[in-house]
Amino acid sequence: MHVITTVAEMQAIARTARVLGQTIGCVPTMGALHAGHGSLIEASAAAHAVTITSVFVNPTQFGPTEDFDSYPRMLEADIATIERCGGTHVFAPSIAEMYPGGYTTTIHVDGVTEVLEGAHRPGHFDGVATVVCKLLMAMQPNEAFFGQKDYQQTLVVRRMVADLLLPVTISVRPTVREQNGLAMSSRNAYLSAEERHRAAVLYRALQSAADVVRLATQSVSRHAIEDAMLRELRTVEELTVGYAVAVDADTLLASETYSTGDRLALLIAGTLGTTRLIDNMLVTV
Ligand code: AMP
Repeated sequence: MHVITTVAEMQAIARTARVLGQTIGCVPTMGALHAGHGSLIEASAAAHAVTITSVFVNPTQFGPTEDFDSYPRMLEADIATIERCGGTHVFAPSIAEMYPGGYTTTIHVDGVTEVLEGAHRPGHFDGVATVVCKLLMAMQPNEAFFGQKDYQQTLVVRRMVADLLLPVTISVRPTVREQNGLAMSSRNAYLSAEERHRAAVLYRALQSAADVVRLATQSVSRHAIEDAMLRELRTVEELTVGYAVAVDADTLLASETYSTGDRLALLIAGTLGTTRLIDNMLVTV
């Protein structure tokens, strides 16, 4: 498969596809692809003649003490995965190509970026919004595919696309999990076999909180939902909980009580060893 490395070539290919009447789906990734990414590529390939997967480890979304240098990079293996899943193009630009010298423009989305991952990782969502916008400009897709795994990120991307009038449909696909429930993630490569086993507690915690919500009649307290998560999470001593919250699925704001019809996001972050894990589930009261 031909790997496109420049924005100019990427835009020329997109332009040609559109002139030919083909629609374009894109899947932005940081590589080290697994079956979660694969499901997005397959969804795009099922709907579009052209499916472009970008592989770019974006420096501006990593904090100074985060794992940018050690983030897994394996382009050859990724290309094989992309081909197998029906992708037609790979866009793998260099840092200099995406951030030409002298760049001073950053996209900042207010509101949903201020809590949870945004509070824990200052500047992270500015990096995400900026790079996603630039990748969309390069790949010119009709539809862009994202995973629910990074739920807060999907809200940030949807907000940015609406606010900037970007002509692209955002589609969010379900989280793909290991057999034990652990959400697939490129960072799971950092986990030992023992830690992978322990990390499944995040999914169990989400399930038990979801049970509390499903069993509720008319209303349920946030405390009861969050307590169910914390009780399960505490069964794994090695896990340091960052947050375990039940919030409004659109705004990420917390209320003391939720009532019938409320759509909630249950969101967990925790650290196991040196690896930060996140997971989430959507439920309606
Ligand atoms: P990343 O390479 O981690 O930046 O992820 C690229 C895209 O794949 C993002 O939209 C993620 O939300 C999505 N993704 C990551 N892990 C999963 C998963 N387990 N299931 C579904 N989508 C995922």
